[in-house]
Amino acid sequence: RAPPAEPPVIADEAEGFAVDAVRKDFPILGDFVYLDSAAMSFSPEPVVAAHLEFEHRYRANVGRGVHRFTRIATQRYWHAHEKVARFIGGDAGVTVFTKNTTEAINMVAQGLCWKPGDRVITTILEHHSNLLPWRALARQGVALDVIGINEDYSLDLAALEDAITDTTRLVAVTHASNAIGVVTPVEEIARICRDRGVLLLVDAAQSVPHMPVDIGRLGCDFLCFSGHKMLGPTGTGVLWMREAIIEPSLLGGGMIETVTEDAYVPAEGYGRYEAGTPNVAGGIGLGVAVDYLEAIGMEKIRRHEERLTTRLIEGLSAIDGVRVYAPKDPASRIGVVSFNVENIHPHEVAQYLDEEAEILVRSGYHCCQPLMEYLGLPDGTVRASLSLYTTEQEIDLLIAAVGEIARGR
Ligand code: PLP
Repeated sequence: RAPPAEPPVIADEAEGFAVDAVRKDFPILGDFVYLDSAAMSFSPEPVVAAHLEFEHRYRANVGRGVHRFTRIATQRYWHAHEKVARFIGGDAGVTVFTKNTTEAINMVAQGLCWKPGDRVITTILEHHSNLLPWRALARQGVALDVIGINEDYSLDLAALEDAITDTTRLVAVTHASNAIGVVTPVEEIARICRDRGVLLLVDAAQSVPHMPVDIGRLGCDFLCFSGHKMLGPTGTGVLWMREAIIEPSLLGGGMIETVTEDAYVPAEGYGRYEAGTPNVAGGIGLGVAVDYLEAIGMEKIRRHEERLTTRLIEGLSAIDGVRVYAPKDPASRIGVVSFNVENIHPHEVAQYLDEEAEILVRSGYHCCQPLMEYLGLPDGTVRASLSLYTTEQEIDLLIAAVGEIARGR
């Protein structure tokens, strides 16, 4: 059987890569401007083709039986884990496929053995998915400390360090905020955690799709991210662990070595954490998404998005009546830009952009309601988020449309 389609080799351009060539791989792109990739990215043709190939040519369960279809599916599904692990430099740990970031974080929260008096530290920047699973541990007597941010949106690292006590078991922090785009100093946090014997979980939902992420450099114990934000299929995500130290939260078929009348031996490696039939096509598609990102190069993607982000922030900031909430330093932010137009509700702005300018953005709290309250933004913000297929022209169209809204207010 033919192997899955290889991603195209993309011609180099002086400043990065040929975005127009890349756009041809995304069949969904059309006469609209899509600036909501932080919520969900689009999938390129090779990812879509991998899904179709699974359906048309070898649809089968994995790790069950020996027939030819199951052998192909099992081999490709297993290989996808290897590709994802290599992509984040995490070959040495355990790379588990999950539904999404939310499931990955919950697996850690529920899989560690807590005792009353344990403490967890998280931050005000977090998505609800990296807040509620820790809050829920209150039932087991686990206390939660929430660290704030500075005026420039950077994490209050000194406060984080001060908050660590002898009973702190874990720090759970985002690598990049999905609401205001700030990047956190994860390497520094990892050093602090190591020194104090505290585990570190990093929510990398918004970093892995947009910048090189290397576990060896980060130094965390758990890394969680979503496939659907990094060109992969929906219903895919990853939990990487340095060591298999958590208990599996699901038990059943597929996660065991042997079962006797009164005992079972769990499988080694990722299998232990993937009970039941997994999202086989999705996992294989996620591996193809990784191939695609690697073919372009994460450094180039980062540079492209950094350049467009600066253009967007400068353009919006220059409009009278528009307030942008973004870190100043390009190295400390990703392509997620929150803003408001004075006296107009963020939903109204987003609706106008969709209906009058064919521009799709997100508005509201971005699943970060405590952060919005902290920043004094009771209605939330409008958020434009970029991807590798975003063009300069699209950024300019957004700036022009927001300018029109602001002038008409
Ligand atoms: N964490 C961050 C930083 C996010 O941006 C998101 C989604 O927007 C999540 C967690 C949750 O991701 P998912 O809905 O894929 O579980």
